[in-house]
This record gives sequence, structure tokens and C-alpha cells, in this order.
Amino acid sequence: MYRRVKNRLPITLSHSVLAVRLGRGGVCQLIINMYRRDLEKKQLAWCKKASFPRDLPNISLIFIFVNEALSVILRSVHSAVNHTPAHLLKEIILVDDYSDDVIFGCVPEQLKGPLEDYVNKRYPGMVKIVRNQKREGLIRARIEGWKAASSEVTGFFDAHVEFTPSWAEPVLIRIKEDHKRIILPSIDNIKHETFELERYENSGHGYNWELWCMYINPPKQWWDDGDTSAPIRTPAMIGCSFVVNREYFGHLGLLDSGMDVYGGENIELGIKVWLCGGSMEVLPCSRVAHIARMKKPYHSNIASSTRRNALRVAEVWMDQFKSQVYLAWNIPMENHGIDYGDISQRVALRKSLHCKNFEWYLDNVYPEMRRYNNTLFYGEIRSSKATHLCMDQGEKVNHTATLHPCHGMGPQLGRYTKEGHFFLGALGSTGDETRCLMDDQVSNFPQLLNCDKVSNTRLTTWHFSQNESIINRATGRCLEVIQANVYFGHSLVLQTCSGQRWNIKNTMKQ
Ligand code: UDP
Ligand code: MN
Repeated sequence: MYRRVKNRLPITLSHSVLAVRLGRGGVCQLIINMYRRDLEKKQLAWCKKASFPRDLPNISLIFIFVNEALSVILRSVHSAVNHTPAHLLKEIILVDDYSDDVIFGCVPEQLKGPLEDYVNKRYPGMVKIVRNQKREGLIRARIEGWKAASSEVTGFFDAHVEFTPSWAEPVLIRIKEDHKRIILPSIDNIKHETFELERYENSGHGYNWELWCMYINPPKQWWDDGDTSAPIRTPAMIGCSFVVNREYFGHLGLLDSGMDVYGGENIELGIKVWLCGGSMEVLPCSRVAHIARMKKPYHSNIASSTRRNALRVAEVWMDQFKSQVYLAWNIPMENHGIDYGDISQRVALRKSLHCKNFEWYLDNVYPEMRRYNNTLFYGEIRSSKATHLCMDQGEKVNHTATLHPCHGMGPQLGRYTKEGHFFLGALGSTGDETRCLMDDQVSNFPQLLNCDKVSNTRLTTWHFSQNESIINRATGRCLEVIQANVYFGHSLVLQTCSGQRWNIKNTMKQ
């Protein structure tokens, strides 16, 4: 998963395979057949019509890497030099976030002397290399790159990208017009096995309440305006490619340096720039392709860092909506045992920049975001009769809720709402993963389906409060657990109430 849930349809372009990368299972990644790729033909006609002024702000391109193949870094550098006008490209900064390559046994020395020798010979005076003395994570690595930059505008990229011709000019025009715009070149995909280029649809960058980012449909207004080259308003960024005025980025407090490893910073910057007087947009005319890889060469479980970083974003920026992040990760709002570090400086930053509140952002910038603030209780749902079992989505095809040993993952994320609905399942990106509980009056088993499609809403509403019975409002039947030869010795049924009680792990605090 890209931090970064990829969920959009690619537009496949004709292409020739220009490079082959051996799988990571081998001793080392190798790029053979290293051509410079000419992506010009793949640009859309309307973008080529634009003629660009010469007088634009200059830019520093900052690439961060850790345990990256040398040839991949060089592809990024070559395409940057080839496709950014020389008078606008002030410098290239390569930040090595302490490559050690313990995971893949690649040759880390390649990223030291050979990298330096190569770029200094090929592009004398152009490339600065910054070496972190310990692994800082992508957030602080980008900040280190920013510190080394000296141009008017800074562009931040993963070190496995390729630039298209004229990618830079539209971006710099937009920033010259308004230095408070953060500009995201549109991202295309480079397939990691074949280096084939795959064009992605024009889209904005959104996220779910776990703060995993994903591509989203551009706003309705953008479609209505009918100009597919127009900037696309976006609530946040995927993060592998963004361009911002250097001083303005500093004024905004850069990225949150209290975040570790990966994830969350891309959402924080989007929220922050909108709330504190700027904006963020995707530019269809500016295209950068990125390798979406299957495995991270630095960390086996990035979710633990992303979760921690997400809590920082929630606590600093989301006001009463922070509860949605705790809900999505299925953790209590207090005594959760996750040390998300000191946020006082970020809270002070928000205050000093006189930023708006999060509700304004949801209303105006991210109206597509589903709100779950009708939640009363959430988490695993347990019966007093069998406390080691939890209510679970079970097999989707069966359309019934079941019991399963408790694990607290997505299928067991329960939610009871003010309206009296019970939901089960991860919130996910669209809410589709979640289904809701119904007594269909016929079956002895509780049905699990999309309650929006049920006309008799009393069948989908239930009386419940913590440690009480779950009683259907239409039929008066209770949800109870009986001994059975299925589902770990128990079965979940609807029957005449016998006084069984239920508990949902967490209480929502707004
Ligand atoms: N990165 C880093 N330090 C880390 C983790 C990641 O510098 O501890 C860099 C990594 O080399 C890459 C960028 O952060 O340039 C984003 O990571 P990655 O490409 O693995 O994420 P993805 O694009 O797959 O979401
Ligand atoms: Mn990447």
C-alpha cells in the first residue's frame, strides 16, 4: 500500500519497456538497460499548447532515499536535469537517510563514493548530498533537504521518480502567482517489475480517518468547469511529489518533525495549509511518474508509525473530529498506551498562524469525507455469556453477523450510533467495508447488510446501552449467544430475551 492507498483506474498508454528491475528477493536490485526515457509524447495535447514565460522562480529539487538502488536514484536525477529548464534549476539535493541496507544485502557503498563521484562528474556544482547520521524517517529527511536548499521554491520527491518535459513551468507559474499555493504534480505510475509507465487519471489526493492517503475524484466544480487542464483542489497530498515556496514552507512550520518513519505528514501539510491561509492543488499539466513498490526497504510495519503520526495530526488539528481517528484505528481515546510524543510546539504553531478550525476545512475543502460523529460506542462487541468471543462480520456471502475469537481488527470494529444502528467493519476509505445489523423478522440469525437500503428502519434499529441487552426495536427480539457446534462452540442468534448483556469496548468522547 502506498501511504497511499491506490484505488484508481490507470489509463494504460502504449509504451516500450525500457528497463527491468530484478525483484527484491535477489542479492541486489539491478537496473539493466538504463535508457533515458522520453515521456514527451505522453503529454496531453492541451498542456503542450501553453507557452511559458522565462521569468519564473528558480527551484531546488530535493530527493530523499534510504537503501535505494543507485541506478534508480540516477534515473530520478537525470530526468530532473533533462526536463527542468536549466535557468530554473538551481540545485539538486540528495538526502541519504542513513542507508545501511541490512534488509536486502545490496551494496550500500554504491550510495556513498560512487554516487558522489558520478553526480559530481556529470553535473559539476549542481548536486548537494546530505547524509543523516542516523535513520530519521522520511519526515525529518525532507526537512534536512529543505535546510540545505537556497532557491526560491523547493520541490520534494521520492528518489524513484521520473519527470516529464515541461513538468516544472506550470508549477512555478502557479506559485509565482500566489506563493501560498502548494502544488502537486500529477502522479503517474512506473510499474516496479517492468518500469512500464502507467498513466493515472486526474485526481485529487484524499485520505480516510486512519489518515492513509488515496486518490479521490476531483471536485464536482472541476468537472462542471470542463477544463481538464485546470488545477484540481485537493484536501491533502499523497506526498511523494510536492512543490512549495521555500520561505512559505518555513513559515508554515515545514512538516511535523515530531513524526517518525512514514505517513501522516502528508495529511498534516494539507490540513495546515488550508486552515492557515494557503491552498493545495494538483496540476494535470505537470506530470511526474513514481515507482509504486511492493515492499519498503526500511521498515516491516509502517502502520505503527503511521498510527502514531496520525494521532499527532488528530490531537493538533482536528478539534472534536479527532475522535474519528481513534475510532478508525479502533483504539480508546484515553489510556491507549501509544506515546505520540510532545505536540505542544505544533499546537503553539497552529495558534501563532491563526488557523481556522477543522470543521471549516471539512465543510469547504473535504466535504466528501464521511463523518462518524453519531457514534456512541465503538470497538469489539462482547457478550457476557462468552467474553472471549467478539461479534464479527464473518463471511460476506452469508450476510450474517457471527462470533469469532476477539482480535480487534477491521471485521470486529463495532459501532453503535445515536440513531440506534449497529455497524460492523473497518471504516476504510469509502465506508463500504462497513455493514449494519438487521432483524429480518424471519431468520433466527442477525442479518448484516447495507441498512440504507432497508425501508422499514425499525428493523435496523436497536435498544442498547453499555452492559445491557441488545433489543430490536421492531420485533423486540434480543441478540444473544447460545451454545452450538459452530462458531467456536457458540452461535449468535435472535431470540426471546433471556437477559444477556453486551459490552462495546470504547465510549466515544466528542
Ligand atoms: N524514506 C526515508 N526514510 C525512511 C523511510 C522512507 O527517507 O525512514 C524515504 C524513501 O526513501 C522514499 C520516501 O521516503 O524516498 C517515501 O517512502 P516510500 O517510497 O517507501 O513510500 P511509498 O512511496 O511507497 O509510499
Ligand atoms: Mn515512493
